[in-house]
Amino acid sequence: MSKIQMTTPLVEMDGDEMTRILWQMIKDELLLPFIDLKTEYYDLGLEHRNETDDKVTVESAEATKKYGVAVKCATITPNAARMTEYNLKEMWKSPNGTIRAILDGTVFRAPIVVKGIDPNVKSWKKPITIARHAYGDVYKNTEMVIPAAGKVELVYTSEDGKEERALVHTFNGPGVVQGQHNLNDSIESFAHSCFKYALDTKQDLWFATKDTISKKYDHTFKDVFQEIFDKEYKAAFDAAGIEYFYTLIDDAVARVMKSEGGFIWACKNYDGDVMSDMISSAFGSLAMMTSVLVSPAGYYEYEAAHGTVQRHYYKHLKGEETSTNSVATIFAWTGALRKRGELDNIPELCIFADKLEKACIKTIEDGKMTKDLALITSIEKPTVLNSRDFIIEIRKTLEAM
Ligand code: NAP
Ligand code: MG
Repeated sequence: MSKIQMTTPLVEMDGDEMTRILWQMIKDELLLPFIDLKTEYYDLGLEHRNETDDKVTVESAEATKKYGVAVKCATITPNAARMTEYNLKEMWKSPNGTIRAILDGTVFRAPIVVKGIDPNVKSWKKPITIARHAYGDVYKNTEMVIPAAGKVELVYTSEDGKEERALVHTFNGPGVVQGQHNLNDSIESFAHSCFKYALDTKQDLWFATKDTISKKYDHTFKDVFQEIFDKEYKAAFDAAGIEYFYTLIDDAVARVMKSEGGFIWACKNYDGDVMSDMISSAFGSLAMMTSVLVSPAGYYEYEAAHGTVQRHYYKHLKGEETSTNSVATIFAWTGALRKRGELDNIPELCIFADKLEKACIKTIEDGKMTKDLALITSIEKPTVLNSRDFIIEIRKTLEAM
């Protein structure tokens, strides 16, 4: 069998701990035997980030701008404990934060749906993808504790010195106050990413805020989305047979619980934080969740939604057996390979990505899975496999297909 040829390299961002071990196994067993894999390799493992003063992270993001598609392994975000463990020169920033700051964009997270790992919500038949705006609001707020009676005002001073004031509240006693902001640029790029991703995946897009109460702040989000949609995307949505649907956030929550799934739910920053944890836990497991950063300029960075699975890695280092689920990391690769195939017009690459995903799902549905899934499956007497054997089983399923 001849291997599938690639024309443009993928930007490969290697990572840390257990996911770094899985990364190599996935390449050896599931990719290299079938694809003449072209990647530009960046080692974002913490040791190498430290050696390069974290320049490697910036270079990998710049390479993503050059080639358009990246696949990323989970990485350690250092804290005090990691400073000593890895003898770090500095408490380097979160690689995901650095990459997001360079590429801009929106993170889309979707569960991988498998028969036998049933969502807790009975009506959900298809995945629900959360698109979370990643800038501003309560995450960049300014707060004040008001000790006693007094007046709080918002003051805007323009560059030419003009002032505009609005009364927040006249306090009769102690209380609290908070200032939030967002930027039109950021809201616009959020909107573009959502509309592009909806077209890309041919799914309806829902967006919700509380514009009836927040007549300026949330209303701006609503207006920006509607304007951009009408001007730039409506025709393409009609042609693709998909819909853009705006409603109030409380109405959206109620509808989501009764829906079948199969759409993208765009959320403001706080709503996305809260709702993505609800969606992922209701669908089963963080190890069955894909994540992709889509930039408004059309760059894509695929990864798993979970971390480096540190606890399993320490077991692995002690020579103990691990049963770590590699599905989300495999789907990061298939997402990136499929996108590369689409951009470079290599249908075999897209077909391979589809098949590998099907092989993962079939292996689990045949009752062969890692421990995290065995604990929650409705399949009777599942076979619990270790990290390597699970990947080997997926390879067997793939070869049989
Ligand atoms: P984690 O790696 O997601 O793991 C937390 C727990 O979830 C694990 O101990 C394990 O539970 C379970 N789990 C997660 N992924 C699994 C998988 N693929 N298969 C089986 N079980 C899985 O989160 P963490 O332990 O809080 O973080 C570890 C490191 O990852 C940190 O240094 C953090 O900075 C980093 N991190 C990176 C990213 C990223 O790069 N995108 C995201 C989050 C965290 P049991 O132990 O009960 O088996
Ligand atoms: Mg959260």
